[in-house]
Amino acid sequence: MSRSIENDDTGMTTTADDAVLRTEGITKRFGGLTAVDNIDVEVHEGEIVGLIGPNGAGKSTLFNCITGTLTADEGQVTLEGQDVTDWPEYKIARSGLGRMFQETRIFGGMTVRKNLLLAAQEAGADIGGLLRQPDDSLLNRTNELLDYVDLGGLADTRAGKLSFGQQKLIEFVMELMGEPDLLLMDEPAGGINPAMLENLIDYIRTANDEEEATIFLIEHNMDFVMEIADRIYVLAHGERIAEGTPDEIQTDQRVINAYLGRE
Ligand code: ADP
Ligand code: MG
Repeated sequence: MSRSIENDDTGMTTTADDAVLRTEGITKRFGGLTAVDNIDVEVHEGEIVGLIGPNGAGKSTLFNCITGTLTADEGQVTLEGQDVTDWPEYKIARSGLGRMFQETRIFGGMTVRKNLLLAAQEAGADIGGLLRQPDDSLLNRTNELLDYVDLGGLADTRAGKLSFGQQKLIEFVMELMGEPDLLLMDEPAGGINPAMLENLIDYIRTANDEEEATIFLIEHNMDFVMEIADRIYVLAHGERIAEGTPDEIQTDQRVINAYLGRE
Protein backbone atom coordinates (compact mmCIF):
# COMPACT_ATOMS: atom_id res chain seq x y z
CA MET A 1 0.00 0.00 0.00
CA SER A 2 2.95 2.33 0.00
CA ARG A 3 3.66 4.76 -2.74
CA SER A 4 4.29 3.59 -6.25
CA ILE A 5 6.30 5.41 -8.83
CA GLU A 6 4.70 5.65 -12.24
CA ASN A 7 5.76 7.17 -15.49
CA ASP A 8 3.05 9.21 -17.12
CA ASP A 9 3.00 9.76 -20.87
CA THR A 10 5.01 12.97 -20.62
CA GLY A 11 7.85 10.82 -19.41
CA MET A 12 7.89 12.60 -16.08
CA THR A 13 7.96 10.64 -12.89
CA THR A 14 4.86 11.15 -10.77
CA THR A 15 4.00 9.76 -7.40
CA ALA A 16 0.77 7.87 -6.85
CA ASP A 17 0.22 7.99 -3.14
CA ASP A 18 -2.73 6.64 -1.21
CA ALA A 19 -1.44 8.10 2.05
CA VAL A 20 -3.94 10.49 3.61
CA LEU A 21 -1.15 11.58 5.95
CA ARG A 22 2.58 11.25 5.59
CA THR A 23 5.26 12.72 7.83
CA GLU A 24 8.90 12.57 6.82
CA GLY A 25 11.68 13.32 9.26
CA ILE A 26 9.56 15.40 11.62
CA THR A 27 11.74 16.80 14.38
CA LYS A 28 10.66 19.15 17.16
CA ARG A 29 12.97 20.49 19.85
CA PHE A 30 12.11 22.38 23.01
CA GLY A 31 15.39 23.99 24.09
CA GLY A 32 17.77 21.10 24.59
CA LEU A 33 15.07 18.44 24.48
CA THR A 34 14.30 16.67 21.22
CA ALA A 35 10.64 15.87 21.86
CA VAL A 36 10.07 14.37 18.39
CA ASP A 37 13.08 12.95 16.60
CA ASN A 38 13.03 12.35 12.85
CA ILE A 39 9.62 10.69 12.71
CA ASP A 40 8.15 9.09 9.60
CA VAL A 41 4.57 7.88 9.72
CA GLU A 42 2.01 7.20 7.04
CA VAL A 43 -1.70 6.69 7.39
CA HIS A 44 -3.61 5.30 4.45
CA GLU A 45 -7.15 5.96 3.41
CA GLY A 46 -9.63 3.97 5.48
CA GLU A 47 -7.18 2.90 8.17
CA ILE A 48 -7.45 3.22 11.93
CA VAL A 49 -3.87 3.73 13.12
CA GLY A 50 -2.76 3.90 16.74
CA LEU A 51 0.10 5.91 18.25
CA ILE A 52 1.31 4.67 21.63
CA GLY A 53 4.26 5.19 23.93
CA PRO A 54 5.14 6.20 27.49
CA ASN A 55 4.24 9.61 28.91
CA GLY A 56 6.43 12.29 27.43
CA ALA A 57 7.27 10.16 24.37
CA GLY A 58 6.33 12.99 22.01
CA LYS A 59 2.95 11.74 20.81
CA SER A 60 0.97 14.94 21.36
CA THR A 61 3.85 17.01 20.02
CA LEU A 62 3.85 14.97 16.82
CA PHE A 63 0.10 15.61 16.50
CA ASN A 64 0.74 19.33 17.09
CA CYS A 65 3.27 19.37 14.25
CA ILE A 66 0.76 17.65 11.95
CA THR A 67 -2.09 20.05 12.74
CA GLY A 68 0.06 23.18 12.51
CA THR A 69 -0.40 23.92 16.21
CA LEU A 70 3.41 23.79 16.37
CA THR A 71 5.92 24.27 13.58
CA ALA A 72 8.36 21.41 13.22
CA ASP A 73 12.06 22.29 13.23
CA GLU A 74 12.70 19.78 10.47
CA GLY A 75 10.73 17.51 8.22
CA GLN A 76 7.62 17.52 6.10
CA VAL A 77 3.92 16.91 6.58
CA THR A 78 1.84 15.87 3.60
CA LEU A 79 -1.94 15.57 3.62
CA GLU A 80 -3.46 13.80 0.63
CA GLY A 81 -0.36 14.49 -1.40
CA GLN A 82 -0.20 18.19 -0.52
CA ASP A 83 2.72 19.59 1.41
CA VAL A 84 1.14 21.46 4.36
CA THR A 85 4.31 21.83 6.44
CA ASP A 86 4.19 25.61 6.44
CA TRP A 87 0.43 26.06 6.46
CA PRO A 88 -1.22 27.86 9.38
CA GLU A 89 -3.39 25.79 11.68
CA TYR A 90 -6.73 27.24 10.54
CA LYS A 91 -5.98 26.43 6.92
CA ILE A 92 -5.04 22.85 7.75
CA ALA A 93 -8.26 22.54 9.81
CA ARG A 94 -10.22 23.59 6.74
CA SER A 95 -8.55 21.12 4.45
CA GLY A 96 -10.24 18.02 5.87
CA LEU A 97 -8.26 17.42 9.03
CA GLY A 98 -10.16 17.08 12.30
CA ARG A 99 -8.60 16.91 15.72
CA MET A 100 -9.81 15.97 19.17
CA PHE A 101 -7.62 17.21 22.00
CA GLN A 102 -6.68 15.41 25.21
CA GLU A 103 -8.51 18.02 27.29
CA THR A 104 -12.03 18.99 26.25
CA ARG A 105 -12.49 22.29 24.44
CA ILE A 106 -16.23 22.68 24.63
CA PHE A 107 -17.97 25.99 25.35
CA GLY A 108 -19.80 25.04 28.54
CA GLY A 109 -22.14 28.03 28.48
CA MET A 110 -23.48 27.25 25.02
CA THR A 111 -25.90 24.58 24.02
CA VAL A 112 -24.64 21.35 22.56
CA ARG A 113 -26.10 22.33 19.20
CA LYS A 114 -24.27 25.67 19.13
CA ASN A 115 -21.04 23.90 19.91
CA LEU A 116 -21.63 21.61 16.94
CA LEU A 117 -22.43 24.53 14.64
CA LEU A 118 -19.32 26.42 15.72
CA ALA A 119 -17.23 23.35 15.01
CA ALA A 120 -18.73 23.13 11.53
CA GLN A 121 -17.83 26.77 10.99
CA GLU A 122 -14.26 26.16 12.12
CA ALA A 123 -14.05 23.39 9.55
CA GLY A 124 -15.12 25.85 6.87
CA ALA A 125 -18.94 25.58 6.71
CA ASP A 126 -21.00 28.73 6.30
CA ILE A 127 -23.37 28.58 9.24
CA GLY A 128 -24.82 32.01 8.55
CA GLY A 129 -24.05 33.44 12.00
CA LEU A 130 -25.12 31.87 15.27
CA LEU A 131 -27.95 34.32 15.88
CA ARG A 132 -29.70 33.44 12.66
CA GLN A 133 -31.32 30.11 12.02
CA PRO A 134 -28.81 27.84 10.29
CA ASP A 135 -30.04 25.98 7.25
CA ASP A 136 -31.92 22.73 7.63
CA SER A 137 -29.19 20.54 6.28
CA LEU A 138 -26.82 21.66 9.05
CA LEU A 139 -29.51 21.25 11.70
CA ASN A 140 -30.33 17.80 10.37
CA ARG A 141 -26.68 16.95 10.50
CA THR A 142 -26.45 17.97 14.18
CA ASN A 143 -29.47 15.79 14.97
CA GLU A 144 -28.16 12.86 12.98
CA LEU A 145 -24.74 12.96 14.65
CA LEU A 146 -26.15 13.38 18.17
CA ASP A 147 -28.43 10.39 17.60
CA TYR A 148 -25.48 8.42 16.41
CA VAL A 149 -23.70 8.79 19.78
CA ASP A 150 -27.00 8.24 21.64
CA LEU A 151 -27.14 11.85 22.87
CA GLY A 152 -30.08 12.91 20.72
CA GLY A 153 -32.02 14.41 23.61
CA LEU A 154 -29.29 16.84 24.61
CA ALA A 155 -29.12 19.27 21.66
CA ASP A 156 -30.57 22.17 23.62
CA THR A 157 -28.78 21.45 26.89
CA ARG A 158 -25.89 23.65 27.97
CA ALA A 159 -22.75 21.65 27.21
CA GLY A 160 -21.24 22.44 30.62
CA LYS A 161 -23.98 20.38 32.29
CA LEU A 162 -22.90 17.17 30.57
CA SER A 163 -20.66 14.55 32.17
CA PHE A 164 -17.02 14.42 31.12
CA GLY A 165 -17.67 11.31 29.01
CA GLN A 166 -20.64 12.95 27.32
CA GLN A 167 -18.54 16.05 26.62
CA LYS A 168 -15.90 13.92 24.94
CA LEU A 169 -18.57 12.34 22.76
CA ILE A 170 -19.85 15.81 21.88
CA GLU A 171 -16.34 16.80 20.86
CA PHE A 172 -16.08 13.71 18.70
CA VAL A 173 -19.33 14.65 16.98
CA MET A 174 -18.15 18.26 16.67
CA GLU A 175 -15.20 17.04 14.63
CA LEU A 176 -17.49 14.92 12.45
CA MET A 177 -19.54 18.04 11.65
CA GLY A 178 -16.61 19.06 9.46
CA GLU A 179 -16.71 15.73 7.58
CA PRO A 180 -12.99 15.19 8.07
CA ASP A 181 -11.05 12.96 5.71
CA LEU A 182 -8.63 12.37 8.56
CA LEU A 183 -9.42 12.60 12.25
CA LEU A 184 -6.65 12.84 14.87
CA MET A 185 -7.78 11.82 18.35
CA ASP A 186 -5.59 12.37 21.42
CA GLU A 187 -6.52 9.77 24.06
CA PRO A 188 -10.23 9.48 23.25
CA ALA A 189 -10.72 6.80 25.91
CA GLY A 190 -9.03 8.86 28.65
CA GLY A 191 -11.39 9.47 31.54
CA ILE A 192 -14.22 7.58 29.85
CA ASN A 193 -16.32 5.31 32.03
CA PRO A 194 -15.18 1.70 31.31
CA ALA A 195 -18.80 0.73 30.60
CA MET A 196 -18.79 3.20 27.71
CA LEU A 197 -15.57 2.03 26.07
CA GLU A 198 -17.24 -0.57 23.86
CA ASN A 199 -19.68 2.09 22.69
CA LEU A 200 -16.81 4.41 21.91
CA ILE A 201 -15.16 1.70 19.84
CA ASP A 202 -18.41 1.28 17.90
CA TYR A 203 -18.72 5.03 17.34
CA ILE A 204 -15.16 5.33 16.06
CA ARG A 205 -15.64 2.33 13.78
CA THR A 206 -18.85 3.85 12.42
CA ALA A 207 -17.05 7.13 11.75
CA ASN A 208 -14.41 5.14 9.92
CA ASP A 209 -16.84 2.99 7.88
CA GLU A 210 -19.83 5.20 7.26
CA GLU A 211 -18.43 8.71 7.57
CA GLU A 212 -15.29 7.57 5.74
CA ALA A 213 -12.97 9.24 8.21
CA THR A 214 -9.48 7.82 8.34
CA ILE A 215 -8.44 7.71 12.01
CA PHE A 216 -5.08 8.34 13.69
CA LEU A 217 -5.34 8.04 17.47
CA ILE A 218 -3.12 8.31 20.51
CA GLU A 219 -4.23 6.01 23.28
CA HIS A 220 -3.00 4.87 26.65
CA ASN A 221 -5.61 2.18 27.17
CA MET A 222 -3.93 -0.88 25.65
CA ASP A 223 -7.03 -3.08 25.42
CA PHE A 224 -8.78 -0.28 23.60
CA VAL A 225 -6.03 0.46 21.10
CA MET A 226 -5.25 -3.20 20.44
CA GLU A 227 -8.91 -3.83 19.68
CA ILE A 228 -9.52 -0.86 17.44
CA ALA A 229 -6.27 -0.24 15.52
CA ASP A 230 -5.34 -1.84 12.22
CA ARG A 231 -1.75 -0.78 12.73
CA ILE A 232 0.23 0.88 15.51
CA TYR A 233 3.29 3.13 15.79
CA VAL A 234 5.27 3.20 19.01
CA LEU A 235 7.24 6.24 20.19
CA ALA A 236 9.70 6.39 23.09
CA HIS A 237 11.86 9.42 23.94
CA GLY A 238 10.81 11.05 20.68
CA GLU A 239 11.94 8.14 18.56
CA ARG A 240 9.89 5.67 16.60
CA ILE A 241 10.79 2.28 18.04
CA ALA A 242 8.24 0.05 16.30
CA GLU A 243 5.45 -0.17 13.76
CA GLY A 244 3.16 -3.11 13.12
CA THR A 245 -0.14 -4.84 13.68
CA PRO A 246 -1.46 -5.06 17.24
CA ASP A 247 -0.20 -8.67 17.44
CA GLU A 248 3.26 -7.69 16.25
CA ILE A 249 3.43 -4.76 18.69
CA GLN A 250 2.34 -6.81 21.69
CA THR A 251 5.13 -9.31 21.14
CA ASP A 252 7.85 -6.83 20.10
CA GLN A 253 10.67 -7.04 22.64
CA ARG A 254 11.67 -3.37 22.26
CA VAL A 255 8.10 -2.28 22.87
CA ILE A 256 7.77 -4.55 25.89
CA ASN A 257 11.03 -3.22 27.33
CA ALA A 258 10.28 0.46 26.65
CA TYR A 259 6.61 0.52 27.41
CA LEU A 260 4.34 -2.48 27.75
CA GLY A 261 6.46 -4.25 30.35
CA ARG A 262 6.03 -1.30 32.68
CA GLU A 263 2.29 -1.04 32.51
P1 ADP B 1 3.20 12.59 25.11
O1 ADP B 1 2.02 13.18 24.45
O2 ADP B 1 3.78 11.41 24.40
O3 ADP B 1 2.95 12.27 26.56
P2 ADP B 1 4.38 15.21 24.69
O4 ADP B 1 4.43 15.31 23.21
O5 ADP B 1 3.31 15.95 25.38
O6 ADP B 1 4.39 13.67 25.12
O7 ADP B 1 5.76 15.73 25.29
C1 ADP B 1 7.01 15.27 24.82
C2 ADP B 1 8.10 15.97 25.59
O8 ADP B 1 8.14 17.34 25.20
C3 ADP B 1 7.90 15.95 27.09
O9 ADP B 1 9.17 15.84 27.70
C4 ADP B 1 7.28 17.30 27.37
O10 ADP B 1 7.59 17.74 28.68
C5 ADP B 1 7.95 18.17 26.33
N1 ADP B 1 7.08 19.28 25.88
C6 ADP B 1 5.88 19.17 25.29
N2 ADP B 1 5.38 20.38 24.97
C7 ADP B 1 6.31 21.28 25.37
C8 ADP B 1 6.39 22.72 25.31
N3 ADP B 1 5.41 23.44 24.76
N4 ADP B 1 7.49 23.30 25.83
C9 ADP B 1 8.48 22.57 26.37
N5 ADP B 1 8.48 21.22 26.45
C10 ADP B 1 7.40 20.58 25.96
MG1 MG C 1 0.06 13.60 25.16
